[in-house]
Amino acid sequence: MRVLVTGGAGFIGSHLCERLLREGHDVVCLDNLLTGNKENLAAIADDPRFTFFLADVAHPFNLEVDAVAHLASPASPVDYQRWPVETMLANSLGTYNCLELARKQGARFLLASTSEVYGDPQVNPQPESYLGNVNPVGPRACYDEAKRFAEAMTSTYRRMHGVRAVIIRIFNTFGPRMRREDGRVVPNFITQALEGKPLTVYGDGSQTRSFCYVDDLVEGLTRALQLEGLDGEVINLGNDTEMTIKRFAELVREVVGTDSGITYLPLPEDDPLQRRPDLTRARELLGWEPRVGMEDGLRRVIEWFKEYDEGR
Ligand code: UDP
Repeated sequence: MRVLVTGGAGFIGSHLCERLLREGHDVVCLDNLLTGNKENLAAIADDPRFTFFLADVAHPFNLEVDAVAHLASPASPVDYQRWPVETMLANSLGTYNCLELARKQGARFLLASTSEVYGDPQVNPQPESYLGNVNPVGPRACYDEAKRFAEAMTSTYRRMHGVRAVIIRIFNTFGPRMRREDGRVVPNFITQALEGKPLTVYGDGSQTRSFCYVDDLVEGLTRALQLEGLDGEVINLGNDTEMTIKRFAELVREVVGTDSGITYLPLPEDDPLQRRPDLTRARELLGWEPRVGMEDGLRRVIEWFKEYDEGR
């Protein structure tokens, strides 16, 4: 297949581009480099089956492709609150442009949605049938509601135009190529621990997250893109091992081997108190299972951060 990956220069997108090339596909990466980085593509930039296209997904474009994976969007709370309008446009106009392309080309479509569509969930774990608890006027709305709109747009194109589409709700993911300064808890804690500085826990640290290693996530995305029979499914992807942020801070300190302390800072508005994917559907439909444990994944990403620093 010839696959368009929007946001292909980003953290998850670049891993997906690499993986698709390894699977034998041709890959076109479209990215405006707002939060993406061409350095992420260094390993594949010269591959003749890879094309980089500097463009904003919110502006119409035309390409010949068999599949579209729409990942383009700022994704960390710090990033999307810094670029709220760009975030809303990438997920509204951007999703529309991708779906129009898929409709015209008869291409299949994968939407990278998010666990944020569940907002601050009142059921735990979250199955795909849970409709969510999102504050439409809060600081996270620019991302949460934009992704909900993108899901609605995708479902509409499927119903009206028969675009073969699958929606993947991505839960917290970590791994090499996360930006140091994206503000998320994984790069923040690792950077702080490596520098021997206190780890900044927001709130009392009793809120939970479930962290998925990027290779596992990309395996799931690749299966969802390649599987012939999928159409109309909404599927959670992530890791269902849940831990409190306080425990996560302790784990980072243990793995880095630092005696950094912990500083408690206020919990941001609308920060979800619990999050854990129900993965039943992913297991059944994709025959997929997250394999990399938190500690193993942390070791890998810490090594990557160290090597990255040395290379600068
Ligand atoms: N968090 C924290 N310290 C930080 C950054 C984040 O305690 O330096 C908390 C944040 O309040 C949230 C969790 O860690 O409860 C995960 O935050 P992140 O920004 O990684 O992603 P989210 O899951 O909120 O989208």
